[in-house]
Amino acid sequence: MEVVALYPGTFDPITNGHSDLVQRAARIFDRVVLGVADSPGKKPMFDLERRVALANEVLDYIPNASVQGFDTLLVDFARALGGTVLLRGLRAVSDFDYEFQLAGMNRRLAPQLESLFLTPAEQYAALSSSLIREIAGLGGDVSPFVDPRVQAALQARLR
Ligand code: ADP
Repeated sequence: MEVVALYPGTFDPITNGHSDLVQRAARIFDRVVLGVADSPGKKPMFDLERRVALANEVLDYIPNASVQGFDTLLVDFARALGGTVLLRGLRAVSDFDYEFQLAGMNRRLAPQLESLFLTPAEQYAALSSSLIREIAGLGGDVSPFVDPRVQAALQARLR
């Protein structure tokens, strides 16, 4: 049976840490779907369509990875995809509390869906989309942390 891992998040915007995780997952699972959540409550800097388009471009080099936007309940989206694994990233102990709570809730909602966690390469452990938005907003250089196309999108958005 094909094992499809769904990696959900806001990806506002996608960073090298996210890509690192997708790359790792793509070596383990048959298919990896990066699920971009609409997340209107987070008031994202980039709209859903733009976040999906950016992630699509950035992950284009990974043949068994794809990108899809969603605005429904995560477990319903996973079910519709035929996903059996929910993939999340753990950067530090500080991520654990929230991720543990999320995994518990998702298990209550969809017991057959397994949450699995991967850690990024060391150089991405301190990386987050919110820090990237903040650094870019203050004129800092984000080129070590995001794809050049994401950097260009940030610059265009901030202009
Ligand atoms: P969310 O709004 O769901 O937290 P994010 O886009 O911020 O969405 O993150 C999506 C997932 O990717 C989360 O599991 C998060 O812990 C993980 N993640 C974020 N940044 C990194 C990184 N630098 N390395 C590894 N995983 C990360």
